[in-house]
Amino acid sequence: MRILVISDIHANLQALEACLAAFPAHDVVWNLGDVVGYGANPNEVVARVCELGSVFVRGNHDKACSGVGDLAGFNPVAAMAALWTQKNLTPANLEWLKALPQGPVKPDDSLDLACVHGSPEDEDEYLINVHDAAEPLTHPVAQCTFFGHTHLQGGFAMNGTGVQNLHPSYRYVNQAETIELQLASGTTYMINPGSIGQPRDGDPRSGFALYDTDAAVVHFYRLPYDIAGAQQNILDAGLPPRLAERLSGGR
Ligand code: ZN
Repeated sequence: MRILVISDIHANLQALEACLAAFPAHDVVWNLGDVVGYGANPNEVVARVCELGSVFVRGNHDKACSGVGDLAGFNPVAAMAALWTQKNLTPANLEWLKALPQGPVKPDDSLDLACVHGSPEDEDEYLINVHDAAEPLTHPVAQCTFFGHTHLQGGFAMNGTGVQNLHPSYRYVNQAETIELQLASGTTYMINPGSIGQPRDGDPRSGFALYDTDAAVVHFYRLPYDIAGAQQNILDAGLPPRLAERLSGGR
């Protein structure tokens, strides 16, 4: 089975459209949350992800923007964007966001795979470094758990020798690129497909991943998109300009 794993679209329609046109052949789509928040096109993005598939976990922005969660932990810019999003979502999309399930979700009983937004223990926790990843890898909910939230593509692996950081290192900055990661048996993984709508690893290209279960290979992707268009939509919507600026640098 070929599982397309996507996360953190953040209402960035230009990024999602570019990805939709470039997604590799896949059987199912697993969405790790933060469909909305920050970007200017939440309704259009919700419509498209609903067409893509039915496996979701909710993200902290999905909660805040739909009123399930509060704005605790949100900086002023993120909070402004969440309130803007809440005001601009259609009632149907608001209800859809409210109903998104909390991770971990194990979408397929025949596969030792799980989906979370932050970490299995706490959907709002950031797994940024090997120290953060030690606990979920020591007591894993699956051999491989897909997570988002940090907007940092890559992840972590643990075998007998400790926790290792997995960081795809690409050669280019402005063209589509793919990097493969072969998973090993006897090793547990936390894999982050990267963020489609607001990458934060210094690479402004959209990130996503495909997991081929037969080959046990994760394919990481980076894809350029119309950043200027997404920025213009953010400014036209009256959202904080900082949310437009950060897309250029991937920060
Ligand atoms: Zn996010």
